[in-house]
Amino acid sequence: MILSEYKSKELLSQYGVAVPEGRVARTAAEAEALCREVTATKYVVKAQIGAGGRGLAGGVKFAATPSAVRSEAEKMLGKPLVTQQTNASGEIVKEVYVEAAVEIAADAFIAIVLDQNAQPTLLASATGGVNFEEQARRNPDMVSSLTLAGNDVEAFLQGLGFQNAKAAAKLVENAHKAFLANEMTLLEINPLAMLASGDWVAVDAKISIDGSAMFRHPELETLVMDHALSSVERTAQENEINLVKLDGNIGVVVNGAGLGLATNDMLVDAGGKPANFMDIRTTATSFQIAKGVELLLEDSAVKIILLNVHGGGMTVCDTVTEGVAFAYARAKRKPPIVARLAGQNVEWAHRMLSERRLPVTVCTSMGEAVDKAVSIAKGGRV
Ligand code: GDP
Ligand code: MN
Repeated sequence: MILSEYKSKELLSQYGVAVPEGRVARTAAEAEALCREVTATKYVVKAQIGAGGRGLAGGVKFAATPSAVRSEAEKMLGKPLVTQQTNASGEIVKEVYVEAAVEIAADAFIAIVLDQNAQPTLLASATGGVNFEEQARRNPDMVSSLTLAGNDVEAFLQGLGFQNAKAAAKLVENAHKAFLANEMTLLEINPLAMLASGDWVAVDAKISIDGSAMFRHPELETLVMDHALSSVERTAQENEINLVKLDGNIGVVVNGAGLGLATNDMLVDAGGKPANFMDIRTTATSFQIAKGVELLLEDSAVKIILLNVHGGGMTVCDTVTEGVAFAYARAKRKPPIVARLAGQNVEWAHRMLSERRLPVTVCTSMGEAVDKAVSIAKGGRV
């Protein structure tokens, strides 16, 4: 669950992290009018989309006057913004954030992530900014890390060359509190800017919250950036399914995020192209699974459905096959299915697939199923 920049800043400021003053607008006229509420000599207009990389793509513009704010907002709103982090069609800009532009004396990068042991870990670099990600990709040594629990953040930042490390460490401490209290999986501030006064300010912020923990934070529900999802992805969410559309032709129906990633990796390794990533949550009913499968069947690019299910825990094999059977019963287009099922109620599920007369090829191993699916997607025999 990604929070947009302004919602991320709103949340951080509640924990004492300094952010520039700003207001969000949905129309250009509103953007101009809001300038009256912002104390500034110069403004920044920022497209609110889920993806980063906006600065290099025209999604962050300076404006000296309220009327210049209006015209910059006009150029962004309602149009797709394509950045290095979006796909080729970009994300439609529905909101802009109008902020007081700050004078940056030094810019840095910090992020808090969870390490392999789920320990909050600080990533930091004394240089930040729009080119940071590209630089860090080429030179990973630019980023240093420190487990936050029990370590001296100030000394760490000092060692990395942060100016006024004491104030920067205080900001990290506040960000850490926000991270823990809201069960974040990612908090990134780039740039973290130092003003001439020595104060550190979050000029950009990006927060991701653990979707499985959202029920414990009903107050965040309104902050979540649901318009970063396509309508297909949102419908899937409403049906207890995590679905991400991809541009291939093999529809995948999988329970479990790890199995979903492994399945897609195997498909790509075998020369295939997944049409989606899918993770059916353990709470999904067969009706909800049917809805998820329908979303794939409605996509004319999908030439085949690969069903890869490990029954166990709360999703048993026949719950999934029942969902598939419902979807196929209603569908106009019935692409072939390759099924690999294992675990609880597998015999029952196999019986259901054949009794409901689904166009299915049953495989016993994941490797075999993946090869078969790739071959059918390439026009091979069913
Ligand atoms: P991103 O490209 O999507 O990460 O968007 P950012 O919010 O990081 O903005 C891109 C760049 O614009 C930043 O790296 C800064 O260099 C610049 N920028 C944004 N806001 C301000 C500001 O208030 N003052 C100054 N001087 N630069 C800013
Ligand atoms: Mn940024």
